[in-house]
Amino acid sequence: MELARSLLTTPHGTFTIAVPGDRGEVPPFALIAPTASNQLPLVRIQSECITGHVFSSFTCDCRGQLDDALTKISERGGALIYLRQEGRGIGLYDKIRSYVLQREGLDTVDANVALGRGIDERGYEDASALLIAIGVTRFALLTNNPAKESALRELGLDVAEVIAVPPSANSLNEHYLRTKVSRLGHTFDAP
Ligand SMILES: [Zn+2]
Repeated sequence: MELARSLLTTPHGTFTIAVPGDRGEVPPFALIAPTASNQLPLVRIQSECITGHVFSSFTCDCRGQLDDALTKISERGGALIYLRQEGRGIGLYDKIRSYVLQREGLDTVDANVALGRGIDERGYEDASALLIAIGVTRFALLTNNPAKESALRELGLDVAEVIAVPPSANSLNEHYLRTKVSRLGHTFDAP
């Protein structure tokens, strides 16, 4: 995999950004921070949420998760893998259609089903390929999502430890966070 690499300084610290050249106009990418040789690198697989990550929307908790992951990775070393699979893989158009249904009372799972989409359409092949390309194949995984952990293991990666991510609760996303626990099997204490 051919990677374009550059240093990238952010409010969370300086990372190396690595972007593959063979994945089209909207490629996945990695933000990498150096790990001390005696430390297990920390990995966060972050799927794109443009409303949360760019605009800090309170509808979900994605911005808080991203900030928390970048802070921890910057401190301990490791990589954040950013995957371009908006809305758990259903794309921005259907994610926004799902928001309409959620305002009418459906939860995030039933809204996807009502739209004829999967509950979670994400895949982790890009994440696995990027992690292998940057040489991070044994790591501690930052996640509350057991499905993500098992998907990475099935792709041959050595998830040596799982570290929970604290949810960023607010009055608008409480129901969304509870749904993640009750219907998507996430393992944090819902608000
Ligand atoms: Zn989000």
